[in-house]
Amino acid sequence: MSIQLIKNLEILKLVKSIELFEHYNQQVNQNNLSFSQALFELTQHEMKFRDERAIQSCVKVSNFPHFKTERDFDFDFQPEINQKEILDLHSLVFIEKSENIIFVGTPGTGKTHLATSIGIDAAKKRVSTYFVTFQELINQLKKASYENRLEDRLKFFEKYKVLIIDELGYLEMDTEAANLFFQLIARRYEKHSTIITTNTPFSQWSNIFKNTTLTHALLDRLLHHSKVINIKGPSYRMKEKLSVYDKEVRDKSIK
Ligand code: ADP
Ligand code: MG
Repeated sequence: MSIQLIKNLEILKLVKSIELFEHYNQQVNQNNLSFSQALFELTQHEMKFRDERAIQSCVKVSNFPHFKTERDFDFDFQPEINQKEILDLHSLVFIEKSENIIFVGTPGTGKTHLATSIGIDAAKKRVSTYFVTFQELINQLKKASYENRLEDRLKFFEKYKVLIIDELGYLEMDTEAANLFFQLIARRYEKHSTIITTNTPFSQWSNIFKNTTLTHALLDRLLHHSKVINIKGPSYRMKEKLSVYDKEVRDKSIK
């Protein structure tokens, strides 16, 4: 009987039920649990497992560079950042309002870390989320344009409820790149949330896009409903380097 039953569970892809079958079978046989209680618990396990698997696949398809969360972030190291403000963003209310978040600050201050941690929370709530560097985004849009499939690619980046665009400002832009980026932001405006990280203050964005009118139109749409997080502070990368350097100096002085 149980071999046939296990086969049925396999066909129905009830992975957790197969794993826990013996345990619950025993519990019922020993009158520790009623049949309906055992079935209830078994289905609870099965549903929890499905939920976790769905979350994992949402997080997997989001293309995050790492899985660091706000709990891995040392707020004491970066006192300029308002911890409460960041934790509020993790409530994800900004997504319901289609608001944008822009992290502006010097290198190594945790912009990518914090942007990603918000994205991970969104993906865990099964909100469609995608991470892309600005350079990769422009490369993909340009390639699609040459191959006559720009509309599809714009739709791809337009559809995500949360799109994280990392490192705006490093890349030298030509007119085509600036126009492509503007098209995407205009399409997402008031529809979905975009999170941007950049080293470049807004006052210098026209140097990146090399077109003042376009830059104004772009900033207008990005900033209209947005939260701007300015971070001026020490680089955490340097902190790690300095502590390795300090250790080497200490080790040498001990020898
Ligand atoms: P940015 O994007 O601002 O240049 P990152 O977010 O890439 O900086 O941070 C650089 C590295 O330092 C990453 O590995 C990040 O996880 C880490 N990091 C930055 N700030 C902190 C912090 N306050 N606490 C813990 N790790 C941090
Ligand atoms: Mg970064």
